[in-house]
Amino acid sequence: MTETPPASKISPSIDFDAPGKRWGALVLAHSRDDSAWGSIRIPIGVIKNGTGPTALLIAGNHGDEYEGQIALRRLMNETPVEDVSGTIIVLPGMNFPAVRTGTRCSPIDGGNMNRAFPGRADGTITQIIAHYVTHHLVSRADLVLDLHSGGKTLDFVPFAATHRLPDTALADRARAAAQAFGAPVGLVMLELDDTGMLDGVVERAGKLFVTTELAGAGSSTASSNRIAWRGVRNVLRHVGILAGEVEPGEAPTRMMDMPDASCFVTSEHAGIHEPLVDLGEEVLAGQPVARIHFLEEPGREPVVYHSERDGLLIGRHIPGLVKTGDFLISVAVDL
Ligand SMILES: [Zn+2]
Repeated sequence: MTETPPASKISPSIDFDAPGKRWGALVLAHSRDDSAWGSIRIPIGVIKNGTGPTALLIAGNHGDEYEGQIALRRLMNETPVEDVSGTIIVLPGMNFPAVRTGTRCSPIDGGNMNRAFPGRADGTITQIIAHYVTHHLVSRADLVLDLHSGGKTLDFVPFAATHRLPDTALADRARAAAQAFGAPVGLVMLELDDTGMLDGVVERAGKLFVTTELAGAGSSTASSNRIAWRGVRNVLRHVGILAGEVEPGEAPTRMMDMPDASCFVTSEHAGIHEPLVDLGEEVLAGQPVARIHFLEEPGREPVVYHSERDGLLIGRHIPGLVKTGDFLISVAVDL
C-alpha cells in the first residue's frame, strides 16, 4: 500500500502484516440502550506466510446466507500456515449485526451491506463497515472473493460468478477464477441493481473479483457446503496462494451467461407461488414457469408466468407467497 487509508472509527485487534495465523476482531464503538459504552466486534482472521498475493475472503455480506460463513471459518481453522504463500484475510461475517440476527440487512440501521459501498466514515454502522472494508481491506487485496447465497427469499443452482467488464483482460481472469471454483455453474452475471455493491468497488480498482450464489432458502445443505468448501480452496490454489492442485467438481463447471434483463421474470401479482419448473431444469422461451393463485379469490383463474428465453432455470423465489414486484425466476444461457 502506498497511500495512507482514510481514518475509520473501526480498529482491528490484530496485525495484518505479521506472519502466522490469528483470529481477531474489527472493533467499532456502538453506544446503545443495552450497552452505553458498548462495541461491535466483527470477527476477522489472517494467515500470512512467505511472499505472494493477498486474498480477501468475505461472507456474511448478507446475514442469512450460510455456506460462505461456514467455509471461511473452516478455512481459517483447518489451513496449515505452511500451505499458504502470501496472505489470506478472512472476514466470515462482514455485516456482523445482520449475521447475529440471521437477517439480510442490519437490525441496527436497516442497512443492506451490498448496497452501502464504498461506504462512509461518518455514516451509519453499515456504511462505516463498508468504508473500512473498501479503504483498509480491499486496498490491501489482489483478489476478493465475496460468498453469497440466496438467503431467506431466493434459492439457486450453486454458481460462482463474474460480470461483464470493460477491462477484458480482467474479465478473462475473473472468468477463469470462477471456473476454478468448481461449482456446477460459472456465470457471467447480470445485476438487477448494482449501485453500492462491493463487486463494483473491487472491479473498478482493477482487482480480481469473484462472487457466488450457493443455494439459499435461508439455510445450507451438505451438498452446497461441499461446493463452498471446495470452491474457496480452489480459487486460492488457482492463484497460487494455497498449496495443491485445483480439485475438480462432481461435474465439469457449465459456463453460462445472463445477456440481458429478459433472463429475469418478476411478479406483477400477489398470492401463492406455484412453481411449474424446478431449479436446474431446462426451459424454453414461452414455457410456463410459475402460476400465482389469488389468496382471496379461490375461484379466479391463476396468472401464468412464462420464461422469455431458452435456458437453465438457475434462480427462484422463496418462500411460498409472492408480492407484487418480487423476483420469480431467473434463466441462464450457455456462454
Ligand atoms: Zn447476498
